[in-house]
Amino acid sequence: MSRHFVPYGKQYVDEADIAAVVDVLKSDYLTTGPMVDKFEAAFAETVGAGFAIACVNGTAALHLAAMGLALGPNEYAVVPAVTFLSTANAARFTGAEVIFADVDPVTGLMRPSDFLAAIARAPVRPKSVFPVHLGGPCCDMPAIRKIAEQYGVDIVEDACHSLGTTGRLDGANFRIGDCRWSAMAVFSTHPVKMLTTGEGGIVTTNDPLLASRIRLLRNHGMTRDVDELVVREQAFADGKVPFRWYYEMDDIGYNYRLTDLQCALGISQLKKLGRFVKRRRELVAKYARLLKEAAIPGVVLITADDRFEIGWHLFRVQIDFAKAGLDRQTLMTRMAQLGIGSQVHYMPLYRQPYYAKRYGTMRLPGAEAYYERTLSLPLYFEMADSDVDRVVATLSEAMGKSAD
Ligand SMILES: *Cc1c(COP(=O)(O)O)cnc(C)c1O
Repeated sequence: MSRHFVPYGKQYVDEADIAAVVDVLKSDYLTTGPMVDKFEAAFAETVGAGFAIACVNGTAALHLAAMGLALGPNEYAVVPAVTFLSTANAARFTGAEVIFADVDPVTGLMRPSDFLAAIARAPVRPKSVFPVHLGGPCCDMPAIRKIAEQYGVDIVEDACHSLGTTGRLDGANFRIGDCRWSAMAVFSTHPVKMLTTGEGGIVTTNDPLLASRIRLLRNHGMTRDVDELVVREQAFADGKVPFRWYYEMDDIGYNYRLTDLQCALGISQLKKLGRFVKRRRELVAKYARLLKEAAIPGVVLITADDRFEIGWHLFRVQIDFAKAGLDRQTLMTRMAQLGIGSQVHYMPLYRQPYYAKRYGTMRLPGAEAYYERTLSLPLYFEMADSDVDRVVATLSEAMGKSAD
């Protein structure tokens, strides 16, 4: 059996990807050229959204979405406690405060009841909510949408883990990113995610006004569009054609643009999305089969609801460490020594010192139970079937050694 190290996640880049980037290097535009529009159009088409806006990373995409909703000081955003830092940080960038919602103790997803409880804890009605489709499986969006409508809350889906997830809910077929139940959805193309542009992020929406506002915010807030110019007397000599050098910034924005180099990589990677998603589903199915057979005491699978076809970002198990008689640190160390990477996604954000200082000590029961037991095992496109065999055998061995 091969003894190479199996990391928990890894990108896949082929010769076509490399050639696409090299072509851009030889072209006239390294950034903000033809590849940006092409990538955005291909991405919007892939997820079934009206518009896609590419930017520097998923964190910036969340920030743009928060600004698109005009989130700001003295306002509140509901964020599930179990997610990556960025989901909550994006709200904080605007000056808004975060209300952490609890999550399901097994899946880590924010349930509609968690959303309602978070609304009840907020000092005033929250302005927005950021459901996170953790690991690939998605939240119950129709139910979340119903509550959001009732309370007047805008929805931004953090879909960074769930590119490729599709399904049927409430009698409607959906694709994650089509924004059927939300104002916007946000994706990341960091190398560990489903597909990569090195760093990268995408906002999708069906609202043309949100799309144009986000495009403006992505590019310093600057415009050359005649119809949008505000200070007419300094823009024109003739009142019709603005000066050749003229642009305006009516509201402050950022330089959050994605380069043509990265967009060319993205276009090339998108062509492989179907294969990426399919292979990850095969690997997850194999894991499920092997783990069922192995029946390792204390190890519980996170099974997917059959209403969905998941674009799996993570393969997680829940481990009852008390029952297994060992702790997570020991298990992860033993596995690493045997050449198998693993990770924890995620410690509840209210435990981060920044948030603990800001909002005080808090513990939400579902988030705590989830965090105590979760472990992510390796999952990536190039992972071989024999790697899955090795991970399960190693997990079994590492857990079995607990009595020594
Ligand atoms: C990766 C990720 C982000 C941030 O994406 P970056 O591209 O790394 O900035 C945000 N939310 C979740 C859930 C993520 O996994």
